[in-house]
Amino acid sequence: MKTIGLIGGMSWESTVGYYQAINRGVKEQLGGLHSAQIVLHSVDFDPIEKLQHQGYWQGAADVLCDAAKSVEAGGADCVLICTNTMHKVAAEVEQSVGIPLLHIADATAEVLVRDGIKKVGLLGTAFTMEQAFYKDRLSSQYGLEVVVPNEASRKQVHDIIYNELCLGVINANSRDVYLRVLAELVEEGAEAVILGCTEIGMLINQSHTDTPLYDTTAIHAAKAVDWATGA
Ligand code: GLU
Repeated sequence: MKTIGLIGGMSWESTVGYYQAINRGVKEQLGGLHSAQIVLHSVDFDPIEKLQHQGYWQGAADVLCDAAKSVEAGGADCVLICTNTMHKVAAEVEQSVGIPLLHIADATAEVLVRDGIKKVGLLGTAFTMEQAFYKDRLSSQYGLEVVVPNEASRKQVHDIIYNELCLGVINANSRDVYLRVLAELVEEGAEAVILGCTEIGMLINQSHTDTPLYDTTAIHAAKAVDWATGA
């Protein structure tokens, strides 16, 4: 079994989900007392969040490249960035190490294509919903048509991520907001919706809606498990 490198802490609330999902996945595949071999570098999210909102992505890239080097030095055979948003600097992180980066958008798109989804809604931070680094990868490399919420809804979705979910706050009113935005995406023709922020699965899951949900935390973790076990 190979060793999985995780760059976590963005936020740590969602890194907990990765740790559980990866260990459960390895246990399911290998049985008994098997668990995952993981090297985790968990960053302090506060300065990263400030750099994001200042638009100083190179500063955030430098922190993540150092983290990637440390998981490689710690014996990791691959590296995962445990957040959709910070895939904005995935190319820099990939180039900073000799081990492969398992990209969250690739993992997600592969499952969508396998399931025959063609038009998909995307929920995430404003960076993920509005900028090219994520949406364009889904469309240009996988032929997916991506629908995002309108401006007012994007702001609500974004604010709930940073002001609540990243702090571990789960609010029923915010769940209603997300379900309303999800319905708007379906009205726009989305056949399914990507939970394109690693904390959203803490707020909504498949029990809340009939619309197929693609939770990037679960999908990314499953990708790492298959990669590590060779499944
Ligand atoms: N974890 C979130 C994501 O998947 C948001 C936090 C961040 O900005 O990294 O995008």
